Amino acid sequence: MRGFLYCTKCTRMLTGSASRGRGKYYYYYHCTSACGCRYKAEDVNAAILKRTEKVHSKTRNGRSMYKIGK
Ligand SMILES: [Zn+2]
Repeated sequence: MRGFLYCTKCTRMLTGSASRGRGKYYYYYHCTSACGCRYKAEDVNAAILKRTEKVHSKTRNGRSMYKIGK
């Protein structure tokens, strides 16, 4: 999940990092510019999952249509 995430404010690339707290690690994505944006990895991953699901359902529909056409 690294290398293709961009800040919604300044569109710079985000970099992932972990910080330790309360006995476990918390993952964040930081903006690489000075705008100081920080996103919780949980939120980012949830957003990615949503997007992925959409793509998958599209692919599935495309496949079933293809099958019917054949
Ligand atoms: Zn930013």
